[in-house]
Amino acid sequence: MPRTTGARRLRAITRRLDAAYGEPPAARRLPPIDELVLTILSQNTSDVNRDRAYADLRRAFPTWTAVARAPARGIARAIRRGGLSATKAPRLRAALRTLEARGMELDAPRALAELPDAELWEVLVGLPGVGPKTAACVLLFSLDRPYLPVDTHVHRAAIRLGLVDERSSAVRAQEELQAAVPPDLVYAFHMGLIRHGRAVCVARRPLCSECVLADLCPRVGVTTSR
Ligand code: SF4
Repeated sequence: MPRTTGARRLRAITRRLDAAYGEPPAARRLPPIDELVLTILSQNTSDVNRDRAYADLRRAFPTWTAVARAPARGIARAIRRGGLSATKAPRLRAALRTLEARGMELDAPRALAELPDAELWEVLVGLPGVGPKTAACVLLFSLDRPYLPVDTHVHRAAIRLGLVDERSSAVRAQEELQAAVPPDLVYAFHMGLIRHGRAVCVARRPLCSECVLADLCPRVGVTTSR
């Protein structure tokens, strides 16, 4: 089966995933800087540990401005339940300090929200430690703008379904999918592939015999990690 990303196929995949897993839950709609911090904390950890680290951080520091001015050690202590705290603390602080240096009011709920899509994208991917996936999470989950984050589940399932080239990195896959997925489909498509990647199209031994996309999938029966 050739690699195809036509809108009809993408809609069919999304419809089937919606039917299999139910309508995706509504997006969080946190203020953009809250979403940015939460997404940085989510790197290489589970949602549960990410949420614990975020709650601990909010308890330890009254404002994002206070986090930007805190010693990295103190931030690391606050977020230790999220894992990799020694890496994430300076990354978090550097991102907040960079935004502050660019004139953003870190604790204004609408900070960043007034920027147009392209400008906000450039601001976010220009922050230290922030890549395209994190930037797309802020745009999509906080501001309902059609940017498509590609995490490990979306990446794996998209390769198997022939939606992106099998040699594509996650960054390249995000560019390809961003160009192919119709804007009105982005959120449901993203959520559908994540849920599918966690439940059925898992890394090792995907459950192809239970897959609602099996007849659309060129890699049905695959047993490798991709
Ligand atoms: S058929 Fe198998 S490899 Fe293809 S999407 Fe379904 S679970 Fe993944």
